[in-house]
Amino acid sequence: MLNTYDKLIFEISRKNRISHNLHKNDFKNINLPEHLLRTSEANLPEVSELDLVRHYTKVSQKNFGIDSNFYPLGSCTMKYNPKINDELATLKGFSEIHPLQPAKTQQGFLRIYTELSSYLSEITGMDAYSLNTYAGAHGELAGLMIIKKYHEKNKDFKRTKIIIPDSAHGTNPASASVAGFEVIEIKSNQDGTMNIEALKTVLNDEVAGLMLTNPNTAGVFEKDILEISKLVHDVGGLLYYDGANLNALLGISRPGDMGFDITHLNLHKTFSTPHGGGGPGSGPVGVKSFLKEFLPKPIVVDKNGYYDFYEPIDSIGSLSNFFGNASVYLRAYVYIRSLGRENLKHVGKLANLNANYIKASLKDQYQLPILENTMHEFVFNGLIDKSTHVKTLNIAKRLLDYGFHAPTIYFPLIFNESMMIEPTETESKETLDDFINALRKIALEAHENPELVLHAPYQTPVKKLDEAKAAREPKVKYQDL
Ligand SMILES: *Cc1c(COP(=O)(O)O)cnc(C)c1O
Repeated sequence: MLNTYDKLIFEISRKNRISHNLHKNDFKNINLPEHLLRTSEANLPEVSELDLVRHYTKVSQKNFGIDSNFYPLGSCTMKYNPKINDELATLKGFSEIHPLQPAKTQQGFLRIYTELSSYLSEITGMDAYSLNTYAGAHGELAGLMIIKKYHEKNKDFKRTKIIIPDSAHGTNPASASVAGFEVIEIKSNQDGTMNIEALKTVLNDEVAGLMLTNPNTAGVFEKDILEISKLVHDVGGLLYYDGANLNALLGISRPGDMGFDITHLNLHKTFSTPHGGGGPGSGPVGVKSFLKEFLPKPIVVDKNGYYDFYEPIDSIGSLSNFFGNASVYLRAYVYIRSLGRENLKHVGKLANLNANYIKASLKDQYQLPILENTMHEFVFNGLIDKSTHVKTLNIAKRLLDYGFHAPTIYFPLIFNESMMIEPTETESKETLDDFINALRKIALEAHENPELVLHAPYQTPVKKLDEAKAAREPKVKYQDL
């Protein structure tokens, strides 16, 4: 039976029920011009405070977040975001700054901008950062625009090509196209690593650069990276590091030492900021010193203890309003400062350990397409037993019944039944064991009662969707029936 609070808020609305307690004479009498006055009642729900509280509590329970349960979404690094990050990032002294204030009235904030830039430089082996870009893909665009402007400044106009392996995140070729480059896709090796022979065949003086994710999206470290960077540099190209997900390497190795010239980071993945559902992000772009003057403007520099705005001379321009999503990089700053250098060094190792624990615990039931070592994430190619018709999609849906978010599925595209699992370092062994047990149980169910798995989920507010219909006839707004 439907509970009152399962209904939409408009459906529980009753005329003149109110949930506020304000007196009419708390408001000044403002005379609005005639044409701005309402001519009909606003169609707003009228509910009591208790109705309101129950409604929103119920809505929040229908949501799934890292605060509700394990969220092993490969490539997305859904790690726990300590609450202290929120508390400090929303201090009034930060949240009430206006970006047009003169530098001398916001020294504390500007200091954090420069300090975070220098921490990120130290962590990645780069020399300078602009924190202004809003997302990973936005950072990629900035990096590619830098590559473009760098070659243009050298009057090297024939460099129109960007090389990207087919195991890359979809944003890579998209960003390269938006930046006006021609994308040269090269087929990866079986494990998603760079095929060096294929790379050699496309290297020439028209190559502007190479974009690479290391470890790649299958979690495999590109062990030939020094050779790859030498090959690309030898023909005059630059190396771009997609550092959206830096978790595997955090505290272990640095893209700057591998020969990369430019990188972006997703603070909303590795550096513990809530994300998912299109919330605010931050994708700082970092460069080696020879590219410093190309960074998006304005940035902040430390002039002997006085923090001031700075516009790099060859800047690609401004890609955001003012300084980007300050609240996101304030959270990253608190995260880095509260862990400290010593503890930050354990993050990558623990993330790698957790992923390998899950992998080793399930490899007798789930197919491993890559037998080499993997790092912070790995891919199963569905069940080993392919006779049951239970596909990765069904396993993902059934996991919801066990209370877990599904892994990333059908990505990377280089395998056909991909389930890409990334547990992160923040999960306990008990949680990992619960997840392993659920997946073992689903493998058994698939064998003994495949229908059960094929029609999952049963426990979620929305059951199995007709996905084709949902895509063709989306109903995304409330209709008063
Ligand atoms: C998430 C991700 C991106 C894109 O980041 P957005 O913030 O979603 O734009 C790019 N590359 C990789 C490897 C990623 O995991």
